[in-house]
Amino acid sequence: MKPFIYDYTLEELQSWVKENKQPTFRAEQIYDWLYVKRVNSFEEMSNIPKQLRVKLEADFNFVTLNEITRFESKDGTIKFLFELQDKNAIETVIMKHDYGNSICVTTQVGCRVGCTFCASTLGGLKRDLTAGEIIAQVVQAQQRLDNSNERISSIVIMGIGEPFENYDHMMKFLKTMVHKQGLNIGQRHITVSTSGIVPNIYKFADEKTQINLAISIHAPNDALRSSLMPVNRRFPLRDLLKACKYYIQTTGRRITFEYALIGGKNDRPEHAEELADVLQGMLCHVNLIPVNHVPERGYIRTPKKDIFEFKKILEHKKVNVTIRREQGHDIEAACGQLRAKHMESSTR
Ligand code: SF4
Repeated sequence: MKPFIYDYTLEELQSWVKENKQPTFRAEQIYDWLYVKRVNSFEEMSNIPKQLRVKLEADFNFVTLNEITRFESKDGTIKFLFELQDKNAIETVIMKHDYGNSICVTTQVGCRVGCTFCASTLGGLKRDLTAGEIIAQVVQAQQRLDNSNERISSIVIMGIGEPFENYDHMMKFLKTMVHKQGLNIGQRHITVSTSGIVPNIYKFADEKTQINLAISIHAPNDALRSSLMPVNRRFPLRDLLKACKYYIQTTGRRITFEYALIGGKNDRPEHAEELADVLQGMLCHVNLIPVNHVPERGYIRTPKKDIFEFKKILEHKKVNVTIRREQGHDIEAACGQLRAKHMESSTR
């Protein structure tokens, strides 16, 4: 199969142009058509000589993602269900905030991490996405916003998949996202979220970027965390927190700990106390995410007063904490829900 044009960095395009005996500025022109003008075919690249466009057509695939469905919520959230070339489906979400538009991208088809509260892991991992397939989600979502002259100003890598298990493609994706001649998204406006793949937390720290790191912690002790997140058996809390401290020390950047509140499981005052103790003294911030009612799993929603009580305990122990605003409630915006439904209907 021909490579996907979005899989090529500017440097790789420059080498390709050179191999084809063309001046290197042609690579910059192609890059501009891809990321600034955001065209959908080589044909539209009008300042590229015809002969080179034919060569591009012969060497690369330009097929973008096929939009199966798109749901738009009353609060402005837009959720896309995209089909890849191999017919697998992935999800991408645009969220509107008062500070701008953010996008949540998918990095894998499925996931093997197995968090018990997550629909994305049902059916396991099918395959990693290439950098180009992750990039195409942003380009296509941006094309949707181009109609209303809006811009994607921040990225969260929090969709389907564990980005640190697709590390190289994720890093290549990031390189293109922050490129000044491309979409030019500020590093501080990008967040990578991991379930805690410890060796790659060290690796990411050593990259010394300004990109934010979020860790899905979801429990304050190993027994509870392992019951919710099997990854904790591979990388227990002690090792995870050690890696987090290394990240903070190396980059000087604050870590966000994501904590999904699951009614009756991890949302009791004693859990808040224990979490505060575990995170004591760390440069961090806790983001509380009340989970929705999942009858098949027996999960219930934490009552509002208990959410505030949990927050109060953390604050009292001097841990920075916020409660995540819910978005896209009416369109099943929670990660993996739409894809799971699609998988179900396509196997019927
Ligand atoms: S929450 Fe993330 S890491 Fe866990 S199973 Fe779902 S996609 Fe994978």
